[in-house]
This record gives sequence, structure tokens and C-alpha cells, in this order.
Amino acid sequence: MLNTETINEYPTLFLILVTLFGIIIGSFLNVIIYRLPQMMHQNWLEDFAETFPEYPISVPDKKMNLSLPGSFCPICKTKIKPIHNVPILSWLYLKGHCAYCGTKISIRYPLVEALSGAISYLTYSHFGPSAYTIFCLIFAYLLISAAFIDADTKLLPDSITLPLLWLGLLLSLTGVSPVSLQDSVTGAIIGYLCLWSLYWLFKIFTGKEGMGYGDFKLLAALGVWCGWQALPIIVLLSSVSGSTLGIIQLWMNRHHKEQTTTFAFGPYLALAGWFCLLWKDDIMQWYIFHILG
Ligand SMILES: [Zn+2]
Repeated sequence: MLNTETINEYPTLFLILVTLFGIIIGSFLNVIIYRLPQMMHQNWLEDFAETFPEYPISVPDKKMNLSLPGSFCPICKTKIKPIHNVPILSWLYLKGHCAYCGTKISIRYPLVEALSGAISYLTYSHFGPSAYTIFCLIFAYLLISAAFIDADTKLLPDSITLPLLWLGLLLSLTGVSPVSLQDSVTGAIIGYLCLWSLYWLFKIFTGKEGMGYGDFKLLAALGVWCGWQALPIIVLLSSVSGSTLGIIQLWMNRHHKEQTTTFAFGPYLALAGWFCLLWKDDIMQWYIFHILG
């Protein structure tokens, strides 16, 4: 039987197991990142066709979900054998090319798997074996999916941000989370409203949309998980990292005629949120000790 004693007896073994588990989950996160936006697009087309039958649009009748069809090469459509689907290793073995048609496979797939493994390692080493750790891992996996989907499509799916918010509230309600229910609920309200007000101020003064509604929902969820006290740190970390990388991106693309004017803010919010879930107390202590004296 697996109990806390066994886990405490072999701490390194369990750390390795959790990291390997994270890498395998990373492989599934790649599927979510690739398929969820396509599923949302298909649902949107179906809804549109149903609501406005007078506008003829073609809806592809091939239903896709997260488990079906099995993994296949997007170019030659060959079904990928399990041996060619081992996280990270298969990509290295095939030198980043499809085993059948030789098409290049993006390095992002093994990177997402490695990132998921690294985040699992850090989360488990930080919180140790507990029920809360399992939920913190789920939190991290949902954030990874949301961040990459936002980077690809500039959309943060409700199907990720809302369950994240409700799950965080449930953990505070049941006392699994160290954040009190009052701090969680306040975190959701302030998180949502502060970006919502920024959005409207920006829109009134510039006539442009600075961010999307998904960002408000994501910050509300982060406020629930980390407590309202962590919100200033999350906003500061995400805006500093986001604007620094944004300026670098603009500078790198300075010779391109078509400048991209939209930035996905979700990845920076997600990274800052995960960082705060682990280290918000250290950051606050450091701030009180060094800045406030
Ligand atoms: Zn292929």
C-alpha cells in the first residue's frame, strides 16, 4: 500500500516518479494545446450553422476530441506508432522528423514535455507529498495548456480558466488549500475587476482593446489560488516580463513590414501565477525585510 511513510522513506524515488509523470502528462498537454482550439472552432461553426441556417457555411463533419483520433502525422496522416510517441526520447531518436515522410516536427513538443516535467519536479519538491500537491500539479498543467493556447490563438478558453477558478474555490472551501475562503473570493473579485477596469480605461482613451476577457478570468482564478494579497506581485511580474519580451520581439521584427500589434498576455499571467503559488510568501518576506526595512 502506498502511504506517506513509504513516500518519506524514498524521497528521491518519488521525486523522479513525479517528474516522469509530469513528462508523460506533458505529452497529453501537447494534444490539448493542438486540439482544443480546433474543437472550439468546430463547435463555433456548428453553433453558427444552427443559429443562422440562412448563411451557408461548411461544417467539417469529422468530430475530433482529446482522445480520438489517435496521434497521426499532420502531413502524411500516418498513425504514429507507440514507439515513435515516447515523450522527448522519440523526438531525439527521430532527430525531430516524422518517421514516415520526414516532415520536420516542431521542437515545441519535447519542450512542452520537458517544461511539464520540470514544473512537476519544482512543485513536488516545494510542497512535498500531500493532497494539495496533486491539485497544485493540476493547476500547473492547466496553466501550461492555457498559456500555449493563448500564445497560438490569442484566446484563453473558458473550458480551462473557469474550472481552474471553481477548483481553487472548492479547495479553499474544504480547507485543502492554505488560502482562506475569504482571501480566495476577494482574490477572484479584485483579480477580475482590476483587469476589467484597465481594459475599459484603455478602450475609452485609445479606442483599442488592450487585452481579452480571458485575461480577467485567468487573473480571477490566480487570485483564488494565491489569495488577493498575491495579486500585485502577479500583475507586476507578468507586466514586467510581458513588456520586456514584447519590446525584444518588436525589436527583432523591426525590419518586417507587418508588425504584430497583439500580444498574448496569458502566458505571462500563467507563469507569474504559478511562480506566486510556490514562492509568494518568500517574495512578500523579502519585500517586507528589504524594502520596508
Ligand atoms: Zn509524416
